[in-house]
Amino acid sequence: MIRAAAFNQGKFPTITFANLAKTPLEVDLKKLVAALEKQLERDFVPIWGYPAKLQISDKPKPNEWQIVFLDDSDAADALGYHDLTKDGQPVSKVFVKSTIAAGEKVSVTTSHELLEMLIDPGAQMWAQGGNGLFYAYEMCDAVEDGEYEIDGIAVSNFVYPSFFESWHKPRSVQFDHLNKVSKPFQTLKNGYQIVSNGSAAREIFGSRHKERHFHEVEDRTMHRSEYRKRIANVRAARVNLPTALVTETRLAADTRTPRAAVLHHAGRLLTELAAMVDPLPGGDPFELARRGPESRVVDPLPGGDPFEL
Ligand SMILES: [Zn+2]
Repeated sequence: MIRAAAFNQGKFPTITFANLAKTPLEVDLKKLVAALEKQLERDFVPIWGYPAKLQISDKPKPNEWQIVFLDDSDAADALGYHDLTKDGQPVSKVFVKSTIAAGEKVSVTTSHELLEMLIDPGAQMWAQGGNGLFYAYEMCDAVEDGEYEIDGIAVSNFVYPSFFESWHKPRSVQFDHLNKVSKPFQTLKNGYQIVSNGSAAREIFGSRHKERHFHEVEDRTMHRSEYRKRIANVRAARVNLPTALVTETRLAADTRTPRAAVLHHAGRLLTELAAMVDPLPGGDPFELARRGPESRVVDPLPGGDPFEL
């Protein structure tokens, strides 16, 4: 079951577009919202099945979701825009100044945010790949460089549900709207994804070029990807499996006889040695990866394990 759009359950959401940016959007907001309505109705909803009502207003109601145009993350901070609206509804932020500075179109970024927000408003769903890793359930990240026009307005390419189903053979079904993806979980050249091994999360990139661009030019502050990493890493910090295992070993050991005591200590020594050789489970998979060359974070497409050295 797809647990889509679970905020204010029981009805389809109304998403209000509010323009609070001083920087010009470089696109007419009415035309943009009309193009997005068409993208939903014609291209996205027949595949993903979750409609929404779109409207423009500077005064969103408490039960409405929001897409807010702001100059940059500083403006978002100053105006109090964080992960949710003040009424606890999902909010997506489009940073107009940062988007244009990175050479991207505000209309494509807005389309990207809208589609992802509709399917996973809490930015906390993951799909498991054939390699056992979890991939962020994001509709545009892996294909984010792809765009097409609706009535002269550029909108974002997006993946299909089949993209997150590892059993599909290459090219056996359509994986994205523009038909650029050939297999499940593939990161296109100028795309990226957030992956997790169940305890921590990191980005993988379709190319080194994209990786550089992502870190040096793009600004993902306060975006879904950062939220995901933060949540995953909070969890990673709390989970301390090795300690739990050692405690259990101690409790289970019967050291009343010398022979049992020797066996107990030998067992603990082996456990410690095993933990040194293989830091999993519970170890920090990034610690080893960090020592490796930077190129390790480029998606080896797909099935490779970016957590493994
Ligand atoms: Zn995204």
